[in-house]
Amino acid sequence: MRLQFVGCGDAFGSGGRFNTCFHVTGERVNFLIDCGASSLPALKRLGIVRDDIDLILITHFHGDHFGGLPFLLLDAQFTRRTRPLVIAGPQGIETKLQSLMEALFEHSSKTKQRFDLSIIALTQEESRTFGAVKVTPYQVDHGKSGGPFLAYRIEASGRIITYSADTEWTETLIPAARDADLFIAEAYYYDKIVKNHLSLKTLEAHLPEIGAKRLILTHMSDDMLARVDSLGYTTASDGMVVEL
Ligand SMILES: [Zn+2]
Ligand SMILES: [Zn+2]
Repeated sequence: MRLQFVGCGDAFGSGGRFNTCFHVTGERVNFLIDCGASSLPALKRLGIVRDDIDLILITHFHGDHFGGLPFLLLDAQFTRRTRPLVIAGPQGIETKLQSLMEALFEHSSKTKQRFDLSIIALTQEESRTFGAVKVTPYQVDHGKSGGPFLAYRIEASGRIITYSADTEWTETLIPAARDADLFIAEAYYYDKIVKNHLSLKTLEAHLPEIGAKRLILTHMSDDMLARVDSLGYTTASDGMVVEL
């Protein structure tokens, strides 16, 4: 299996990075994790065939994780996509997506697509299977607007990938990422403790009990980006590929 960071930036384009979007492919899987506002141009820049994507998992409703869906869906319509597409995310995703579509492209939410589009609301700690992908969401803690907030533990091709989503430290990250082959974790600041976001030093204190086999830091602010060469951890960059 292969994961490519299509975008690993924050909401503010820190470091000129694209919003969050990861592309996972394997023998029987092809899906995205998050689709931020800039994700369609980022996917096109990497030459990723959108028609082959079967599933998009959304962690929460902030624009840098969710805001790219209207562009992607319109592009799919105009390029005459026929392959079914599943978009799964937190409770309320159907109405959130509808109002986002209407805000950005009036009447677009009512367009009859040529392809089957399923919008599925996920519940924390209830596993769902989409083709060869098993997804278990865990509730995380990222403030009062834009939620519910879900981290994902994803099993596919005999591997486990966990993505923390945006969150301050919460104990649910331990079962979500325990023994994962790859744990992609937000590290917004180095050691500054803020509400709603995770700092590397806080995360570091919990790494032994998580026991993930590989860690890659993402969603970094300028504070973290200035330190990437001296952190001693792998940090994501746009376009980076991880083989699993
Ligand atoms: Zn974010
Ligand atoms: Zn967020």
